[in-house]
Amino acid sequence: MRIVAAAGELRDALAPARREARTIGLVPTMGALHEGHSSLLRAASAECDVAVMSLFVNPAQFGPGEDLARYPRDRERDAALAADAGVDLVYAPAAEEVYPAGFSTTVEVGGLTDVLCGDPNRRGRGHFRGVTTIVAKLLNLVEPDVAYFGQKDAQQAVVIKRMATDLDYGARIAVLPTVREPDGLAMSSRNAYLTPADRRRAPALHRALRAAADVAVPGAAARDALAAARAELSGAGIEPEYLEARDAEDLSPVEAFNGRPALIALAARLGDARLIDNVVVGATTDPGGQENR
Ligand code: AMP
Repeated sequence: MRIVAAAGELRDALAPARREARTIGLVPTMGALHEGHSSLLRAASAECDVAVMSLFVNPAQFGPGEDLARYPRDRERDAALAADAGVDLVYAPAAEEVYPAGFSTTVEVGGLTDVLCGDPNRRGRGHFRGVTTIVAKLLNLVEPDVAYFGQKDAQQAVVIKRMATDLDYGARIAVLPTVREPDGLAMSSRNAYLTPADRRRAPALHRALRAAADVAVPGAAARDALAAARAELSGAGIEPEYLEARDAEDLSPVEAFNGRPALIALAARLGDARLIDNVVVGATTDPGGQENR
């Protein structure tokens, strides 16, 4: 496995693969790898001839009061896990490489980024602008055949699919199922912020989503499903930042379930950790093609 830090080195390293028409898979990450990342890396390695991982804690997607400075970083462990998962090439640039002096272009997807995690009253659209700008740069540099993302960040996946379609990226956007701890907690680099007491409460997020999914049969009202989730959360003393049912493809609000895939998504702050999770109902398979519960 090779690690490069400059865009030019990345292009050079990929040139032979491109010349020989070998397929390239890209997995963008911010490091602090866990099994959720590894599942994407293994898929890229299994499905593509060359598996590329980017490792960059992207300042542009953090808001002013957010956790950029203390985001967990462990390059050596990440490199070992990436190699284990079959990664061939790691692109780990410094911030100045990605955003040199004078950098002034952004990529922004409208509409889809105004809701849930992009609600201007909460995190704001700046988060997704940061995500789509870096992912656009990575797609341009790597020119992958497939780019892999996790269903854990469901809105991010929807937004990136939209961007890839709108901007004519050739890459297929693959979305793979959320990997969970044995007690149901979605794996996340931010779980490291949880105190032992909050770690014990945290599985209530997934229990709440499952309770909602049990109610969310065709014909059921979204408010009833969300009430079931809310009851589970309040039993654990958790007040969600948001808890909503939305169309899984266009994120429009869902009032009643009708058999179309619907996303039930939540965000909640437990101490210093802001956690998000979701389930997809109304489809036997999730957008990644595997069971999501
Ligand atoms: P991050 O390093 O948090 O930016 O995540 C990099 C990629 O890994 C994103 O596509 C995430 O959606 C995905 N990911 C993060 N956590 C999980 C998980 N628990 N299961 C599956 N994919 C995940």
